[in-house]
Amino acid sequence: MTTALTTSGLTKRYGSLVAVDGLDLHVRTGEVYGFLGPNGAGKTTTLRMLLGLVRPTAGSLSILGDNGRAWPSPALGRVGALIEGPAFYPYLSGQENLRALARRARVSRERVTEILELVDLDQRAKDRYATYSLGMKQRLGLAAALLKRPELLVLDEPTNGLDPVGMADMRRTIRRLAEDGCTVLLSSHLLTEVRLICDRVGIIHRGRLVSERPIGELGGAGRLSVRADPLERAQDKLGRLVGPGAVRRSDADLHLSVDAGMAPAINRALVAEGIAVSELRWHQPDLEEVFLELTEGNGAVQGNAAPEGNGNVGGNGHVS
Ligand code: ATP
Repeated sequence: MTTALTTSGLTKRYGSLVAVDGLDLHVRTGEVYGFLGPNGAGKTTTLRMLLGLVRPTAGSLSILGDNGRAWPSPALGRVGALIEGPAFYPYLSGQENLRALARRARVSRERVTEILELVDLDQRAKDRYATYSLGMKQRLGLAAALLKRPELLVLDEPTNGLDPVGMADMRRTIRRLAEDGCTVLLSSHLLTEVRLICDRVGIIHRGRLVSERPIGELGGAGRLSVRADPLERAQDKLGRLVGPGAVRRSDADLHLSVDAGMAPAINRALVAEGIAVSELRWHQPDLEEVFLELTEGNGAVQGNAAPEGNGNVGGNGHVS
């Protein structure tokens, strides 16, 4: 297994503030890697160091097989990025904007056409950039980052600010790129998004790596809470149905470690026993709960992680 990117003890200090603290990341070739953390955790600073935009205070990084001794990495020409700064002319069309960038990068017009199709902008390619929705602007930024067929694509909160349809479009495009062999490193503060799109995840909190693991081993899979009467009989029945280890009891509820799709079967089984079910509730843990689960007992995370859905990384645009 080859790695597309590794960092070793990567650190950035701003005066007394340690924005990134001894980070060891390992992004494997061909995967979609989610760099997950609440606002202010150090994600953007890390990505900026990788891309040669912010000089690390300490540590090293190696990109696409370079020897890790030079910063910025000599391999940056093979890296595409969507990180900051609106970089498009509002009165030119998406196609004209891309063609201008392509000329500078010595990329063919055919590639521009191809890439507009890839990001699903071919139908609107001739419309002015100023008339694009946020999702379309974001996909044009992605198109610009892809012009030179990068081997590694770095995306800072690529779905930030998009509506659910825009998010789904962006996710689909990213998966398509990964299927074509491009390694993708994306940052996000949304646990649900990372679950939907990534193969592996690195979780960062207050500049430190909390965990790096396959997405399937992230934990926090969710639980079904059941309120039923009589509760003892319900517990006994459900213990037989899903295994006693998967049923936990609190004061008035039972909590089941099962898939959300089990709810109808559980309801039917209890009703068939003459047990009254007054509530079935699905609970999906947020980022903070997953942090706590991952760090339980070792004190690595203190204070509050941001709840889902209220974060913000500014700006669309690209560097390449
Ligand atoms: P967000 O999603 O909110 O941008 P993030 O995880 O990307 O969060 P960073 O933007 O990397 O976090 O910021 C990490 C910490 O470093 C924050 O406390 C931030 O205020 C600080 N920081 C970032 N850039 C600078 C700078 N140029 N000067 C001083 N402090 C900075």
